[in-house]
Amino acid sequence: MGLILYGTRCFTKFEGYYGEKEECPHCHKIYKSAYVKNNKWFHIDYLPIIPIKKTYFKMCPICSYGTELNSKEGKKEMLNSTDSSEQKLETYVKHVLIKKPTGMMSVDTSYELWVKDLITGEEICVASDLTKSTIKEMKKVRGLKEIKIIDV
Ligand SMILES: [Zn+2]
Repeated sequence: MGLILYGTRCFTKFEGYYGEKEECPHCHKIYKSAYVKNNKWFHIDYLPIIPIKKTYFKMCPICSYGTELNSKEGKKEMLNSTDSSEQKLETYVKHVLIKKPTGMMSVDTSYELWVKDLITGEEICVASDLTKSTIKEMKKVRGLKEIKIIDV
């Protein structure tokens, strides 16, 4: 008999930008909030079996500072959103090759997370000196399927 692994898994999905533009108390940028759906499942051998909890994370689309909403609140806020002004942001990673360490055992902390406002053209550096696993976590928090890594 093989070992059976079980526990919980969380799937995240970016749902869109909703609500009024507001200033983020953390990074002070003024944008509509990003809504990310979090689905928590009980899994057996990593196969989702039973849904446990669905919540929404309402966050600043730049620095991802935000709050968790229950499923009902999250849906309601998205439905009641009337501001139809366009907001287009692109999240990507810069891999700063010049900062990449050369030693075999050293940890590569030369990744930077950037968000570009595709309407104004502004590029914002969200965080620097990151590892690849931190980038993976940030991608998950933001509910993104893919994140582009650019070597610079
Ligand atoms: Zn922010």
